[in-house]
Amino acid sequence: MVKRIQSIRGMHDILPETEIHWSWLEAQIRMLVESYGYRRIRLPIVEKTELFARSIGAVTDIVEKEMYTFEDRNGDSLTLRPEGTAGCVRSGIEHGFLHNQLVRLWYSGPMFRHERPQKGRYRQFHQVGVETFGMTGPDIDAELILMSARLWKALGIKNLRLEINSLGSQEARERYRKQLQDYLYRHADRLDEDSRRRLKTNPLRVLDSKDAGTREVLKEAPQLLAALDAESREHFEGVCGILDMAGIDYTINPRLVRGLDYYSRTVFEWISNELGAQGTVCAGGRYDSLVEQMGGRPTPACGFAMGMERLLALLESQALLPEIPPPDVYVLSQGTAERRHALHIAESIRQSRPDLRILVHCGEGGLKAQMKRADRSGAEVALIIGVDELASDYVTVRRLRGESMQKQVPRSELLLELARHRPSPENFSAPGKAGEAGVK
Ligand code: ATP
Ligand code: MG
Repeated sequence: MVKRIQSIRGMHDILPETEIHWSWLEAQIRMLVESYGYRRIRLPIVEKTELFARSIGAVTDIVEKEMYTFEDRNGDSLTLRPEGTAGCVRSGIEHGFLHNQLVRLWYSGPMFRHERPQKGRYRQFHQVGVETFGMTGPDIDAELILMSARLWKALGIKNLRLEINSLGSQEARERYRKQLQDYLYRHADRLDEDSRRRLKTNPLRVLDSKDAGTREVLKEAPQLLAALDAESREHFEGVCGILDMAGIDYTINPRLVRGLDYYSRTVFEWISNELGAQGTVCAGGRYDSLVEQMGGRPTPACGFAMGMERLLALLESQALLPEIPPPDVYVLSQGTAERRHALHIAESIRQSRPDLRILVHCGEGGLKAQMKRADRSGAEVALIIGVDELASDYVTVRRLRGESMQKQVPRSELLLELARHRPSPENFSAPGKAGEAGVK
């Protein structure tokens, strides 16, 4: 037996019956974000390793242990992108579309992180993200949140909870980092091992530890919000004020810090209780110092990313995924000349009615077996082309849903007959000659 090759752990095929939901969701998101003026950008999946090391931060989980990094044939260190922001910033600096401009972008595509695969956590996963550049005020932070809230509404998703926090300015955060570190050092013996390690390199990350002992210690820890600089406080109040006015519920979670180093001021997450431990479907925030840190001119920035797998899981659990549309017409035929004829008739219908989904039976099978398939396909009508039909130039039309009906229709009246079962969509103008009713 030849050994079969399997897909890589944590990287999944998206088969057609599921893919249809992906395309649908992407289309919904696209419509919404483009209605807010966001423009799509497509970026490479592979970047120089240094890009992520410098932007995400050397002592984050992603850079320390989750990146797919390899040497290419020239000996350059490359990495499969673990997220989309770094690439956007690189591209913006490279093409000069950030400085002194107001930019709204969105992207969609696969990301790669070497994490322990489990429900809602994969090694290849997919994000739709948005990034904005050049806007300092709380208005744009709030727009991002309003836009995501509108997306949940458009999709019908219920029970998502919004948590927000402010990390303050770079300096305030630095100050707070010291305070927190001092406090945690004093209680280091009660922290879990991971937190003890992070305590030295990235103490803010201890704040979102799930360990019960560590959480106990954190109850008395100094608060990030209390350490905010006055400008960041005002900015945060601005964001909250807009959310209040829009009637969007949120909780301020002073321990929300996010896993990437580049955030400053506003951070937020949309969380579901229906997805188990991997409940965050959308997360983002402001990253005002990243562009400069990557060699660009100082440019304020703000964005978020949604996990497609988690969003789809949530839509499924709330029964919000659309049904797969069946074909409208199933074309049956038997015999070589009849099959040729069937394909030709289907093509001429398509010429006038590109809105119809027409499935022509190809391959083996007698008419009876074909009729079974036609029925199972869910099609509205079957067109049958046999010896007699070929000889006298008509088509047998059989209705497969509702009251049964079968009749012989001259080819010149076929489009009219089909329109009875499946009217053309409104404002639909068929290509070809106006008023041409028959099938040529
Ligand atoms: P988590 O805390 O769940 O690890 P994160 O903070 O690492 O998430 P971000 O980098 O902010 O996540 O990515 C934004 C979104 O992308 C997440 O909220 C989630 O929906 C999704 N996401 C992140 N990592 C994965 C993964 N490994 N598998 C599936 N989805 C993911
Ligand atoms: Mg993570």
